[in-house]
Amino acid sequence: MTMNREGRPTAPAATKDAGVSPTFTGNRALDIEEKLIFEVGRLDVTGVDVEDPGSFQDRLGGHARKAPIDLPGLTEPEAMRHYVRLSRQNYAIDLGLYPLGSCTMKHNPRLNEKMARLPGFADVHPLQPLSTVPGAIDLVAELGRWLLELTGMASVAMSPKAGAHGEYCGMAAIKAAIAAKGETRPIVLVPESAHGTNPATAAALGFKVVPVPARADGTVDPAEVRKLLSPDVAAIMLTNPNTCGLFERDIVEIAEAVHAAGAYFYADGANFNAIVGKVRPGDLGVDAMHINLHKTFSTPHGGGGPGAGPVVLSEKLAPFAPVPFVRFNPDGSGEFVETRKQAGDTATPFGRITAFHGQMGMFVRALTYMMSHGADGLRQASEDAVLSANYIKARLSDVMTVAFPERPAMHEVLFDDRFLDGTGVTTLDFAKAMIDEGYHPMTMYFPLVVHGAMLIEPTESESKQSLDQFIGTLRHLAEKAKAGEVESFKAAPRLAPRKRLDETRAARQPKLAWSEPTTPKAEAAE
Ligand SMILES: *Cc1c(COP(=O)(O)O)cnc(C)c1O
Repeated sequence: MTMNREGRPTAPAATKDAGVSPTFTGNRALDIEEKLIFEVGRLDVTGVDVEDPGSFQDRLGGHARKAPIDLPGLTEPEAMRHYVRLSRQNYAIDLGLYPLGSCTMKHNPRLNEKMARLPGFADVHPLQPLSTVPGAIDLVAELGRWLLELTGMASVAMSPKAGAHGEYCGMAAIKAAIAAKGETRPIVLVPESAHGTNPATAAALGFKVVPVPARADGTVDPAEVRKLLSPDVAAIMLTNPNTCGLFERDIVEIAEAVHAAGAYFYADGANFNAIVGKVRPGDLGVDAMHINLHKTFSTPHGGGGPGAGPVVLSEKLAPFAPVPFVRFNPDGSGEFVETRKQAGDTATPFGRITAFHGQMGMFVRALTYMMSHGADGLRQASEDAVLSANYIKARLSDVMTVAFPERPAMHEVLFDDRFLDGTGVTTLDFAKAMIDEGYHPMTMYFPLVVHGAMLIEPTESESKQSLDQFIGTLRHLAEKAKAGEVESFKAAPRLAPRKRLDETRAARQPKLAWSEPTTPKAEAAE
């Protein structure tokens, strides 16, 4: 397809349905309409042949199943096709640009996968004695060392399994440090723009959450923080760059005020991709920060895939790191401290946050990513991520409204819905129209501090051509909204396998179990 400068096709593409009568199968060429596994499976079919066990004495003590299990059976090719067909209805970073702000959906270099599949890493069993896997342990220690180098912090807990889990770990260390001083500090300050996991984490640990209002320019005002600080405050949880995609310029002043009040500074490091190799959080006064390996360091995520959220800790919090943790020996080698007892007198771990040592596959991918980029490459990735976001901001600011135009964007750019005023088109309609154009929508209605938010994070792994096509699409949609084509927005998505859902009903009355349709037999057979 030829594109003009806007990245728009020079000739309008015919819509998929134009002039086509419905097909016999309901499929549209390679768009295959797949039924639920309960509808395609049968009870008399299985993918494996198991010999009849004959008569035997079971030892289930009366717990043996009395009725058939009623799971649908499929032959092997049917099972394969079912899941491949479903997978084709998914959007994926390997399929196209994934502009979901705050999520850093970047390309995962295939070298990472190759390394993660080496049997010495892939086949390590969590219950294997550590003495049999020294190489794997070295790898985790080496990754920990890189994380400390990049963040300028004193210690790292590798085991948390997600960003939110890392938050919990870091805040638990803060809670332990406060208890060790014999203090009670029930309050945690959280800016209004924060990711929902921040207040949730604080609340889960029994803290009371007090919101910090945002300034008109989208950042946190140190004067507001100072007003809220008291001997009751345990910590502030702050994201930098924040979820409006802006660098918090007063972060050092905020950190100093927090420390002067005897409180700790937790940084949400999910947005680290904007500053890797440029700023070290340790130099900004951060006491604890989780790092989403599955965002910044490329491992694929979304769709509920694995995560890894190591937490770096300052000198003050290091003694409270959970076991297991990596202790670095004077010769540079790392060793795992597995139990509180092994930690000795130098440390008082708050406990254990998860079984075993963390996500091995993610550790391998993250270290491969770091080593293949090198220090200069990591810095360049951040610079390119910021450049991509600012390019989108510059090319769209005449047709969409940038929420905070005065400040340069970091790795993501925030738009609001003012450009849709009077058009009848909402942020949701706009996002649904993007689906018809073959894009996953950006993050919508987050952060909550601006109305109708649209948060776009292109990442560094998109080419200029790819960004231009995306920009062209958004320009086209913005112009279409302004031209009064509201009906086509309300009908979107028209080309997706599923149209608009009643999302409220789906959330309030989810149907979690399949039941046989009650349609009369004759009708069902048609
Ligand atoms: C993604 C994200 C988190 C949570 O990370 P998970 O791995 O999804 O638990 C926290 N804060 C911010 C700003 C994020 O973008």
